[in-house]
Amino acid sequence: NDTRLSLLTPSGHLTLGNYLGALRPMAAAQDAATCFYGISDLHAMTTTHDPARLRALTGEFRTLVLAAGIDPGRATVFQQSRVPAHTELAYLLECTTYVGELNRMIQFKEKRRTAGGVISGTRTSLYTYPVLMAADILLYRPTHVPVGDDQRQHVELARDVAQRFNLAYGPVFTVPEITVPPVGARLMDLADPARKMSKSAEADAAGVVRLLDDPDLVRRKIARAVTDSDTGPAAVRFDRTAKPGVSNLLELVAACTGTTVEDAAEGVPTYGALKKVATDAVLAVLEPLQRRYAELAADPGQVEEVFEAGSARCREVTAPVLAAARAAIGLS
Ligand code: ATP
Ligand code: MG
Repeated sequence: NDTRLSLLTPSGHLTLGNYLGALRPMAAAQDAATCFYGISDLHAMTTTHDPARLRALTGEFRTLVLAAGIDPGRATVFQQSRVPAHTELAYLLECTTYVGELNRMIQFKEKRRTAGGVISGTRTSLYTYPVLMAADILLYRPTHVPVGDDQRQHVELARDVAQRFNLAYGPVFTVPEITVPPVGARLMDLADPARKMSKSAEADAAGVVRLLDDPDLVRRKIARAVTDSDTGPAAVRFDRTAKPGVSNLLELVAACTGTTVEDAAEGVPTYGALKKVATDAVLAVLEPLQRRYAELAADPGQVEEVFEAGSARCREVTAPVLAAARAAIGLS
């Protein structure tokens, strides 16, 4: 039986990209695997953060996870900071990881650069983030970890650390295989199709559709989407190189309606018509999601309870793994 772990970091409002690329597949996997779906609030504090915003985003994520169709009867939903085993194991793994390994992490080098590149203004947690991520993974003893390219190096580190720990102290962890997830939609920014749509984009980003955007705002964002800068005829066809904007809209339609990009282009004569089709497709996805969100948000105590119950279950599930690691490393 497969165990699946997915984490969402509350670093910004969830986008349509997060839904198509993460939340929807998470909901679809519920019956095929034992699923643990967490909100990784600890990972949202590695760069400058505002406590009130973190609290609000975490509440919003809890509600959106359920609104997206993740069913606490079939998947375990939890909040990372409520399962202390994550941070406790991270410390044991810090005693198994070398500074040289963390120095090599590409994401650290990149994020430090965007933080001004000054080491004195870089949080220690940004540096040790891959170790906490290794703990997130190894605690659940998964056999496979599906990751995209940007997280691959971190999972490789988790594998190295697990192997080293097992060799030095005894067989505590399973060493997970890295699998490439089936190519899902990778939605690009509507205003800049060379850039991925991201939740951590600026609040007023014109090309980022957020799951809780008002339908009128969604209409305006799609209406203003970049189509083409090529000099050829304004034809609607899929060609990521020559027509990145049009192709992104076609992928958006295909992902929302469950068709192919070719079918999505069929019978759509103009860019204007394509934007109309895209708007309808996106709103058909967002409207029911927003309706469920509003229903759930009317009773935040209930949503909170669901996540507390799931977190309690994770505390139980992870306890034997943590206990084995503690004993092996020499803690009594
Ligand atoms: P950040 O800017 O904070 O990195 P993000 O939007 O890139 O935010 P992540 O937390 O990096 O989101 O990823 C959460 C999940 O959403 C991952 O499974 C990732 O593959 C998926 N995802 C993120 N952006 C997109 C996108 N534009 N299209 C499809 N899937 C996406
Ligand atoms: Mg990202």
